[in-house]
Amino acid sequence: MDSLEQQRALGFTAKSPRWSIAYKFPAEEVATKLLGIELGIGRTGVVTPTAILEPVRVAGTTVGRASLHNEDLIRDRDIRIGDTVLIKKAGDIIPEVIRVVEEDRTEEQVPYHMPTHCPTCESELVRLEGEVALRCINPKCPAQLKEGLIHFVSRNAMNIDGLGEKVVVQLFEQKLITDVADLFFLSGEKLVELERMGEKSVQNLLASIDKSRENSLEKLLFGLGIRHVGAKAAKVLAQYFETMDALRIAEKEALIEVPDIGEKMADSIVAYFENEEVHDLLAKLEKAEVNMIYTGPKLELMPEEALVFANQKVVLTGKLEHLKREEAKALIESLGGNVTGSVSKNTDVVVAGSEAGSKLAKAEELGIAIWSEQKLMEYLPDEGGQNK
Ligand SMILES: [Zn+2]
Repeated sequence: MDSLEQQRALGFTAKSPRWSIAYKFPAEEVATKLLGIELGIGRTGVVTPTAILEPVRVAGTTVGRASLHNEDLIRDRDIRIGDTVLIKKAGDIIPEVIRVVEEDRTEEQVPYHMPTHCPTCESELVRLEGEVALRCINPKCPAQLKEGLIHFVSRNAMNIDGLGEKVVVQLFEQKLITDVADLFFLSGEKLVELERMGEKSVQNLLASIDKSRENSLEKLLFGLGIRHVGAKAAKVLAQYFETMDALRIAEKEALIEVPDIGEKMADSIVAYFENEEVHDLLAKLEKAEVNMIYTGPKLELMPEEALVFANQKVVLTGKLEHLKREEAKALIESLGGNVTGSVSKNTDVVVAGSEAGSKLAKAEELGIAIWSEQKLMEYLPDEGGQNK
């Protein structure tokens, strides 16, 4: 609708103008060959198949791999090694296999079956009730330990710089570490023998490991990778229980009284601390002088809503009716969030005002939580007349 008069009369819905429509180009679809299927083992033992593709240009980049998510998807789309497949980038970002080009199929491609045993440790894979994923449930599985260590050193966890994936792999292969606690007993002489590790990077790494000993409890707690315990839950637990010793003996009833801790998480925490190997690991971490006490702001000073955006990336977009942009940003930051400019798969929440355009659309596409300005304003502090 060209007329400004008519535009004004029509106005907006919550999401979009009533006087215009956007047409999008369909995602580019490209055919390529499926060379193989690679299996990855995640930190929690989930086995994820990845399509290895003959590299091909799609929507501006070369694509050689695409996640196949799980066995059901491979079966439902009848994807076979050697097939010609059509791929596209979902949301123009994540490569995806759409379907097989049936006409190109010969006698040679046979249906793919997931292995019955873990490709790394060879223990039998299981499918837990209600899950589509196959899992390796061996707690000593090297593939899981490796992923667990990568998680342990990551930014929201122990935040240890200088430990890239390549170094982690070498540490395991050279048997310098068998669990995360071994990290704190590494010596410079051993490290300097690794590939890509000069004198200087060894010093930096050791300093970084050393510094991480002082981390507040929640970082260690998140880093341990207890199932269902994310960064936010780890923070809440650390604030409530203050020490690892208090948390490890907490009973389920005590855990579910903590805000944001549900039954599933409580069960998982109790089960974790009952595990004999976990006792050994914690003893080893204690011996390594890793801090197990919460050193952040005291709970009394922090209302429970204060953590609503803890460690989350928040994008502000669109026109806000009540708050100034700077106020909204300050509010989000006071709630623990980091305000970033663009929406990506790393974004946790998008706060959308009116006339929010492409960022909102992208957030919807990526399945990111979307907040209205109204919802954000529920978190405004009451005192000092700041409420509008
Ligand atoms: Zn395994």
